[in-house]
Amino acid sequence: MSHTVLEIDLNALAHNYNYLRSKLRPGVKMLAVVKAYAYGSESVAVAKKLEELGVDYFAVAYASEGIRLREAGIETPILVLHPQIESFASIIEHCLEPSMYSFRVLKAFIELAEAQNLKGYPVHIKFNTGLNRLGFKDVNEAEILQYLKETEAIKVKSLFSHLVASEDLNEKRFTLQQIEDFKSHATHMTQGLGYKPWLHQSNTSAIINYPDAQFDMVRSGIGLYGYGNTPEEDLQLKPVATLKTIISQIHEIAVGETVGYNRAHTAARKERTATLPLGHADGISRAYGKGRGYVMINGKKAPIIGNVCMDMIMVNVTKIDCEEGDEVLIFGKGASAVALSARIKSIPYELITAVSQRVARKIVDQPTKES
Ligand SMILES: *Cc1c(COP(=O)(O)O)cnc(C)c1O
Repeated sequence: MSHTVLEIDLNALAHNYNYLRSKLRPGVKMLAVVKAYAYGSESVAVAKKLEELGVDYFAVAYASEGIRLREAGIETPILVLHPQIESFASIIEHCLEPSMYSFRVLKAFIELAEAQNLKGYPVHIKFNTGLNRLGFKDVNEAEILQYLKETEAIKVKSLFSHLVASEDLNEKRFTLQQIEDFKSHATHMTQGLGYKPWLHQSNTSAIINYPDAQFDMVRSGIGLYGYGNTPEEDLQLKPVATLKTIISQIHEIAVGETVGYNRAHTAARKERTATLPLGHADGISRAYGKGRGYVMINGKKAPIIGNVCMDMIMVNVTKIDCEEGDEVLIFGKGASAVALSARIKSIPYELITAVSQRVARKIVDQPTKES
């Protein structure tokens, strides 16, 4: 086993959860998005902690992610955002709640629910209000309502939509239009159904930027993991996942020698390099190579030199007081994922979800002095 580890701080998670909750209007429920291994961390540990904290709902992208949570004993309702028809049987078997995003999936789900003699199985109807990714778009709600009225097998637990640019205030007009469109869908559907499904449209940045659009529930992902899409919000939140490793070996490189595959780095002066036990197979994109990315060693930035290898990277430590075995931070507490991902024009969402399953997860759930 290499010494590369992703530390998951559940106290930071609790802090972020409580902070985001404090931004909600009275009575608004909180759905925690735990797709993609809880944004690259560890979905079971994260979901268990959030359940303990009183979260109202979970969402995952695919059925398999929800099944994993159920098998670990999670009992809170789980919305599956992007189910495939092939997974409907196992969705029902594991009490997961599918998003209905098209007539094709709605018809298929009703057919299966009726075949199994289900009554009032909870589903969620998704409207596309501008993202053009998933959801009913430009439809006559009467057509959806027709299917719902002709069956007792399913019941609409919620109506929802997703915002395109809630973090970008230059897109405020577009966002406000999305909110209006969602309200209009919701009004027509609620009238036609004769009962009131919950409404939800806000992701993390919308919780902060559009408090009037919190409706009955909000869906937070990135904020729970410690990132708020602005420097101000980042200050309020604490990174949950910290990727760390150690220095495996230190080399002295003479002028003119090269480092790494394809001789991508040539020492212009005498250099000292450190080899670290993580590479692109662990989630460090090749794009971070050739000086674009860096790691933190003893509080200083050590640039990645040459090409990122599958299992290793080499960093320049010429000006850093360090030795073999010293701790190295890649992102998280003490090493900003925002700043690092920006070096390759990426975002924390991509950097933190990229940590591969080879990297050991270490759960930390003890209150620390700072937190
Ligand atoms: C991923 C996702 C979210 C969470 O968004 P954040 O910006 O991480 O808070 C919310 N809703 C849907 C539909 C999503 O796919």
